[in-house]
Amino acid sequence: MVKKIKLAVIGSPISHSRSPEIHQDFAYQAGIDIEFSKVELSKSNLDDWVHSFFLDGGKGLSITLPFKEDCLSLADEISDRAEITKAINVLFNNKGKILGDCTDGVGLVKDLTVNKKQSIKEKSILVLGAGGASRGILPSLLKEQPKSIVIANRTVEKAERIAKEFSSKASQTSKSSNLIASSLSFEALKDFEFDVVINATSVSTNPSQNLNLDESVFRNTSLALDLYYSQAFTPFMDLADRAKVPNVIDGWGMLVEQAAESFFLWTGFKPDTSELIAKHGE
Ligand code: NAP
Repeated sequence: MVKKIKLAVIGSPISHSRSPEIHQDFAYQAGIDIEFSKVELSKSNLDDWVHSFFLDGGKGLSITLPFKEDCLSLADEISDRAEITKAINVLFNNKGKILGDCTDGVGLVKDLTVNKKQSIKEKSILVLGAGGASRGILPSLLKEQPKSIVIANRTVEKAERIAKEFSSKASQTSKSSNLIASSLSFEALKDFEFDVVINATSVSTNPSQNLNLDESVFRNTSLALDLYYSQAFTPFMDLADRAKVPNVIDGWGMLVEQAAESFFLWTGFKPDTSELIAKHGE
């Protein structure tokens, strides 16, 4: 009998995760049998659980909040792009070595530019949040040659750290001298205008939390994206909609695209994402 490929998604909270159904769809397309579990962990049992998973024959893990930075140290080797992001959303066993990679950024850019036909070249971008997701998307955003990227975060020092790290990388890798990553507090945002506003904070995961964002941040915005995926508009998306932003989207397309990239790393099969992306809201 052919053994099922053992996969899982780990995070906290995890009950909302739609990764199992996405990967089961990909497995069906590939004609592969998989066992995909959803596992809630805490920082205290993360290391032990991940080690046992791979010792027990696990092939691949998808990593969601808040463990994207913690899991870096659990990989034997990390990819070049994860070396830059310092956050990983995938771990997998490759011939006995545990490799870490980050597929969030390519997933986001594929969804924006290919599926949603939204160019970010020469655009001024605001990224709200300085956690794992923010780190994961910045290199791919920078590659698209935007005019500028500003990072704002509740804990301003974290935004400052990321802005510093990524601006030196931007100047090394980009031909555009305009490409600057700078950091701001939420309060200072009212003095600036942005073409694209991305919510990479985790507030949308918790209905009792609020970003305290002023609607004026969207005054010149053509695209607002909440990385969180949700069938209903999140408060961030509602605010953007009220401010008449023409394109307001959530993270479903990104989720499917990053999962497709991860599935390829685990199995060597590139799934078709179009049907799943169109199924959003069902
Ligand atoms: P994380 O590492 O835990 O970072 C959380 C970020 O949110 C931090 O910057 C934190 O600020 C900020 N934050 C939390 N509560 C806040 C509040 N009440 N007000 C203002 N800021 C607050 O989480 P993550 O892994 O980056 O995930 C962030 C979001 O991206 C989640 O919604 C996740 O679902 C989404 N995501 C989606 C995809 C996708 O494929 N669609 C992929 C990755 C992530 P402090 O630094 O001040 O704590």
